[in-house]
Amino acid sequence: MAPAAYCKAHIVWPAAPEPYKLRPMADTIFSKILRGDISCHKVYEDDLVFAFLDIGPLSFGHTLVIPKEEVATLDLLSDETAAAIGRVLPRLCRAIKTVTGAEQFNILQNNGPMAHQAVFHVHFHIIPKPSVDTGLVMDWDSTKLDPEEGARLAAALSKEIGG
Ligand code: AMP
Repeated sequence: MAPAAYCKAHIVWPAAPEPYKLRPMADTIFSKILRGDISCHKVYEDDLVFAFLDIGPLSFGHTLVIPKEEVATLDLLSDETAAAIGRVLPRLCRAIKTVTGAEQFNILQNNGPMAHQAVFHVHFHIIPKPSVDTGLVMDWDSTKLDPEEGARLAAALSKEIGG
């Protein structure tokens, strides 16, 4: 059997700030925004979802979409809230495209400190990509999937999710 990178027992979290490890989730800056304790540039709100401009935009129009449900990472989100975010994300993208004039954009969603998550409240970045050098710039250091390992991995994932 190939390296067990996808076995739960082998997942090792990097050192994280204490609040990240707490359950229930500790108060974050986004909780304070949701409560109105600190201000933001609000873009959208419904019963389950809130969106506002990122305070440190990678490009003009960089927007954050967060659930009102307070969980740290996407895997902890309820189906109901996940559906609500999925419903509104494309609408927000269309609005951002129209208003900024940027035809292209990235959706970024970080989970865990090693994956560049800084605020431990689930959030989706909508980052307009007006030029090659502006917006999200990334190294896409791809490898090659071994067919046999791919077959084993897909089967393991399919079994886990019950698909
Ligand atoms: P991440 O690295 O995915 O956790 O991204 C967190 C994002 O939250 C960063 O892009 C920050 O600029 C943004 N951010 C942090 N504090 C605020 C704030 N008070 N208002 C708006 N955006 C914020």
